[in-house]
Amino acid sequence: MILIFLGPPGSGKGTISEKMVQNHNFKHISTGDIFRKTISNGTPLGIKVKQIINSGNLVDDKTTWEVAKDALEKFDLNSENIILDGYPRNIDQSFFLEKWLKEQSITNLKEIYFEISKDVIIKRLTSRMVCDKCGRTYNKLTLKPKIEWKCDDDNSELIQRKDDREENVKVRLETYEKVTAPLIKYFTQKNNLIVVKGDDDAESIISKILKSI
Ligand code: AMP
Repeated sequence: MILIFLGPPGSGKGTISEKMVQNHNFKHISTGDIFRKTISNGTPLGIKVKQIINSGNLVDDKTTWEVAKDALEKFDLNSENIILDGYPRNIDQSFFLEKWLKEQSITNLKEIYFEISKDVIIKRLTSRMVCDKCGRTYNKLTLKPKIEWKCDDDNSELIQRKDDREENVKVRLETYEKVTAPLIKYFTQKNNLIVVKGDDDAESIISKILKSI
């Protein structure tokens, strides 16, 4: 089955994905993580998307679909449970995905919407820290590392993502409202969109998701 995680940046999609991978045998595809990896590896794609991502804007649909499709093709979509986090991010991207899934005869698809207030998002994102090496996420207010600015797992430096700077968070939220939020209505009309509260505790969110699928 494929779960589409939809919600603004900072709504908890990544954190919940991490836990569902660890504890419930889900596989996780995050187009944002894939892009960040290409940037840190300095690949041609990374060089192309670096500036766009750091400023909080969206990568073009064709490039993003190639990345998403490439990742999806690595799994057996009939037998594995996949979380698609950060794709689709607009209606056209959803059309690409739906058409492709139809061609593969995959119909087992559910959309989960992470609802959360803008104030909580800004606070969360601007206080987020990420391990430069393994990608583990911390938070200056709620999830501090044992040693300041050092990853608990590998002792590497923690950094603030450039797109988590306040000015770039604002761009991301504006883009989300304008381009991505219309998907909520689209999925609601098409299927039965499952809504979870992004500021509930992780276990309640996961339990609601598991019950609804
Ligand atoms: P995320 O970690 O999901 O917030 O993604 C980080 C950044 O990667 C976004 O701000 C976009 O620049 C880019 N990105 C990720 N997924 C998509 C997508 N589906 N469409 C366009 N850009 C994307």
